[in-house]
Amino acid sequence: MSTSSAFAINAPCFINASSLKKSSSSSKSPSFSARFTCNSSSSSSSSPSSSATPPRLIRNEPVFAAPAPIITPKWTEDMGNESYEDAIAALKKLLIERGELEPVAAARIDQITAELQTPDAKAPFDPVERIKTGFVKFKREKYETNPALYDELSKGQSPKFMVFACSDSRVCPSHVLDFQPGEAFVVRNVANMVPPFDKTKYAGVGAAVEYAVLHLKVEQIIVIGHSRCGGIKGLMTFPDEGPHTTDFIEDWVKVCSPAKAKVVAESGSSSLDDQCVSCEKEAVNVSLGHLLTYPFVRDGLVKKTLALKGGHYDFVNGTFELWGLDFGLSPPTSV
Ligand SMILES: [Zn+2]
Repeated sequence: MSTSSAFAINAPCFINASSLKKSSSSSKSPSFSARFTCNSSSSSSSSPSSSATPPRLIRNEPVFAAPAPIITPKWTEDMGNESYEDAIAALKKLLIERGELEPVAAARIDQITAELQTPDAKAPFDPVERIKTGFVKFKREKYETNPALYDELSKGQSPKFMVFACSDSRVCPSHVLDFQPGEAFVVRNVANMVPPFDKTKYAGVGAAVEYAVLHLKVEQIIVIGHSRCGGIKGLMTFPDEGPHTTDFIEDWVKVCSPAKAKVVAESGSSSLDDQCVSCEKEAVNVSLGHLLTYPFVRDGLVKKTLALKGGHYDFVNGTFELWGLDFGLSPPTSV
């Protein structure tokens, strides 16, 4: 992994199947191309990939230069086609029956037609457009307004934090904790779990921890749980025994089975919601314990170059709780 490429955004990264077969060289929009070619204005710090031949299936041009919209909006039946046709038919009937209302009816037909052709809340979701506008906004408001930061990041990264957070779309740590690019090396998975050291079963997480600790030399590893976590609810409700009904989820969340056992033993008579809240935090502690099974994490703790912390983000009440692990839990700090 190249540290300098982590934040390099290259136009060839944007690709989609529908544009692969099109010859768009003659009809692509130059202005779009210019806006999306991030490296065009940077001088010496371009990504390694900018000078290399793109992989066979990656076209060296921005996907947004496609000659035609990727998705052509269509007015389908479930979007109100019947009511549109009904309205037009009724107006035409009125037009025939009462000739003196013709200008009014014609204007109404024009209005309805114009409304249908104007993007509004009824327009189908266009994922490509969403990505495009999101990147344009980021580039204009952040990338281009902070060249010093992005120039520094083009040379490498030196994050102080490694963060484990849930994949849940509501709990992005960069959003919740205002991490700026370069501040946090983030792993997100279902229920923000850290499995124990296991080269064969959990190589993905192991590689991330190894890279963060040994190469990036992060100073803090923070595992952050959150309110109303579906993964934790799954852990609390999936049967402990018997055949699985999921391919991966049950196996994965059982990484933190000790948390479930503790919650059931201590508050098994509480409501499921209350047990889930407890388990959200206990699972964080189990993950912190699992981090101790990684030899390089233990070394960092002994040398005091590394610290472990647990956190819990409650988006129902808008609070964040943080606690430390110094071979024993220290009192939590609530925000
Ligand atoms: Zn979650």
